[in-house]
Amino acid sequence: MPVLVMKFGGTSVANVDRIRRAAKRVGVEVAKGYDVIVIVSAMSGKTNELVGWVNEISPLYDAREYDAVVSSAENVTAGLMALVLQEMDVPARSWQGWQVPVRTTSAHASARIEEIPTDNINSRFADGMKVAVVAGFQGISPEGRTTTLGRGGSDTTAVAFAAAFDAERCDIYTDVDGVYTTDPRITDKARKLDRIAFEEMLELASLGAKVLQTRSVELAMRYGVRLRVLSSFEEMSDNAGTLVCAEEDIMESKVVNGIAFSRDEAKMTLISVADRPGIAAAIFGPLAEAGINVDMIVQNISEEGRTDMTFSCPVDQVLRAEKTLQKAKDSGEINYHDLVADQNVSKVSAVGIGMRSQSGVAAKMFKTLSDEGVNIKVIATSEIKISVLIDRKYVELAVQALHDAFELEKP
Ligand code: ASP
Ligand code: MG
Repeated sequence: MPVLVMKFGGTSVANVDRIRRAAKRVGVEVAKGYDVIVIVSAMSGKTNELVGWVNEISPLYDAREYDAVVSSAENVTAGLMALVLQEMDVPARSWQGWQVPVRTTSAHASARIEEIPTDNINSRFADGMKVAVVAGFQGISPEGRTTTLGRGGSDTTAVAFAAAFDAERCDIYTDVDGVYTTDPRITDKARKLDRIAFEEMLELASLGAKVLQTRSVELAMRYGVRLRVLSSFEEMSDNAGTLVCAEEDIMESKVVNGIAFSRDEAKMTLISVADRPGIAAAIFGPLAEAGINVDMIVQNISEEGRTDMTFSCPVDQVLRAEKTLQKAKDSGEINYHDLVADQNVSKVSAVGIGMRSQSGVAAKMFKTLSDEGVNIKVIATSEIKISVLIDRKYVELAVQALHDAFELEKP
């Protein structure tokens, strides 16, 4: 039998009634002849509640016990979903991570899936089970303890199962009806995309379009898993949602397919750094060790052996970045005159695989922003993305103007 993976996020299983509605969708796919692997999240809000309890007891918690606690919410949903399916006369069984087993690294709270043996579940399918309901987000370490995959990790569970079982597709049911050209809250011209390439989705996901956990998209790209993002609150149809797929599966693509933004960024400038071989390593090495997510980096021309170095990072990491750099300065590893933090910037990016073969995108982007009187503070580009840092107060304006300029409302 062909295998289909269906993943239901927290809002899609928020209460028994919604679990019933989700189960009906599973029943429809079973009736089509699929063996279905259902991956469930925690009922919405439950993981946060569990994390809250752990923090209340012990802010410096033992990560093994954190995992023991926060993984438990998915077990509840898996059992309930299996029960509802059984009530519908669909042969279903729940599976916790260790029962499959979903083998992971022992990096508790952010474990990676290493292997999912298929024999256990496949032998049950052969015996007549039609649905395996698997608790998402969790696995088992080589030491035999339960692990979790990081927040939002059940998307990654779903893709990993789709890859392991060679599923026809991996449907991710959520509370939005697909991936949009930009956040519909910023402009009502935002349009749902029918298809988007893995590479583009990766850029959008990591830029704050939080539909899918970034790691799940990386995994889908590596294994060529066709991912569909769709709403569990709409009528079922074959072309609902957005298909995240390989570039070759997209007939025609625009140059720019999405405008992403990340509101809460900071721009840090080290003024007058001694310019010598190894200086970048001496600055960014300690920042990386401190877990600062450095994004854009610009080094100015140097004069008389000194230069300015600018980088961006999330605004809530500014304090840690300042402390880290001060420490490196005190220990003599680096030498700078001043450190200036601008905490009022946002990043806006145009994303599209068509940029690889078409020129002029950057020029159009800069012209559009200048026509709106928006000053660009830092620019960075990659093969399929152009990002700028601008004052936060202009973020809506910039997104709307770029969405118009690249005619994203038109299919
Ligand atoms: N329940 C977990 C979380 O909220 C995993 C998931 O839902 O993807 O992060
Ligand atoms: Mg999620």
